[in-house]
Amino acid sequence: MPTIPRVAELSANVPISIGESCGVFGVFAPGEEAARLAYFGLFALQHRGQESAGIATSDGEAITVYKDLGLVAQVFDEGKLASLTGHLAIGHTRYSTTGSSVWANSQPTYRDLGDSSIALSHNGNLTNTARLAERYDRSGASTDSELMTQAIADAISDTDSLQEAIALVAPEFDGAFTLAIMDRSTVVGLRDPMGFRPLCLGRLQSGWVVASETAALDILGAKFVREVAPGEMVVIDETGVASHFPFAAAKPSMCLFEFVYFARPDSTLYGEEIHSARRRMGERLADQAGADADIVVPVPESGIPGAQGYAARSGIPYIDGLVKNRYIGRTFINPSQSMRDLGVRMKLNAMPGELGGRRVALVDDSIVRGSTTRQLIQMVREAGATEVHLRILSPPYRWPCYYGMDTGDRSTLLAAGKQVAEIAEYLEVDSLAYLDLDELVAATGAPADGFCTACLSGDYPTEVPISGDKFILERS
Ligand code: 5GP
Ligand code: SF4
Ligand code: MG
Repeated sequence: MPTIPRVAELSANVPISIGESCGVFGVFAPGEEAARLAYFGLFALQHRGQESAGIATSDGEAITVYKDLGLVAQVFDEGKLASLTGHLAIGHTRYSTTGSSVWANSQPTYRDLGDSSIALSHNGNLTNTARLAERYDRSGASTDSELMTQAIADAISDTDSLQEAIALVAPEFDGAFTLAIMDRSTVVGLRDPMGFRPLCLGRLQSGWVVASETAALDILGAKFVREVAPGEMVVIDETGVASHFPFAAAKPSMCLFEFVYFARPDSTLYGEEIHSARRRMGERLADQAGADADIVVPVPESGIPGAQGYAARSGIPYIDGLVKNRYIGRTFINPSQSMRDLGVRMKLNAMPGELGGRRVALVDDSIVRGSTTRQLIQMVREAGATEVHLRILSPPYRWPCYYGMDTGDRSTLLAAGKQVAEIAEYLEVDSLAYLDLDELVAATGAPADGFCTACLSGDYPTEVPISGDKFILERS
């Protein structure tokens, strides 16, 4: 039998506001097994979160939820999907963050309200969680996603419909929230007015889909209709799709890291295919910062399209010198301490036959904490590379993200307060260059003013919490 989450099961020890970027999905498809569609949709969104997976379905009478820690394929099997009956569903994959890997943090969240019930999936991170907790936290528990669920649940008794309840309380939420929400007969997709995290609308023969990325439409054979706009709420029920704009003003500020790292290469954002955009980042980086190197080597997987662009533009041969274990995901078997000390070796391996005796231009998408990158450089040298020239497809990551990328405070960010030369010295590379911000934005092909770039520029598009990070007002 599926697990029906009860509020009482939520642990009181769950820390408030944990950063997470996740995959969200919603489907309304009369005559179809929505759980099965959600399963495959989540499968295509697995890269956005490997910590937990969940699906809520409704047959019009009652919502059923099943969620657990693990990958989509680990959490669900035929029996569990069969018990999730109904033609509407929402789903969630949760990003792996440090700690707080507990069942209570997995989604969709759920509230039984007697006459009604709701479930919610969230991608993003709110910046006014403490204020919302004062108002809505009665269960002693909470993530920002639980607080939004409670706020909507409270509003339902004062309104006539799920969409009215959402429109009433959503303006109280600050920060990043892309949501898929359902009651027993309606699926709602919502993007915050900044549109930090993506959401698209697709059409099935028998219904409608909302998903974080277009790759989740492709796997279902759904036709891409359009991106849900920042500040827009789409409401899907038996009458079709309706669009509402509950917020006063929208200011598109999509996370630039969706283009750099998060999104799948075969998804499109702002109408641009991510793989092509990443290849253009590499071309621009080759123009901006050439390297005296014999070969261009990507750090798989996210560095591959950029390395292809860098190689094509520079004329230096592209070589796969590193191999990634694609299946490591999250195993939930803790490695022994001696294995943990091997760090990056659990994920990547270097090939001396390709790297030995060569000057390597190593291309990666980003450096955040620097620990992976530093170990990787050692590995490339041990494999026989004579020089390592590191080329990064984004600018130095110097400012913490409050909108859903769990990068910690400034003290954990390698580039915070450091010049590029100091970073190169720490990483022990022969040269280091980062793609300039204006070049990166131009490479996306999207509107230049349509992005959040806060972690790279220090320009936050909204107010951010000052407590917890005393460096927030500094600018390097
Ligand atoms: P670091 O050297 O900062 O420890 O690790 C950098 C590597 O981590 C890059 O290869 C990047 O692709 C990968 N990475 C893993 N998770 C994330 C994430 O959430 N954001 C970003 N920007 N990079 C990540
Ligand atoms: Fe994305 Fe960086 Fe903005 Fe966070 S701060 S939403 S990672 S661009
Ligand atoms: Mg990477």
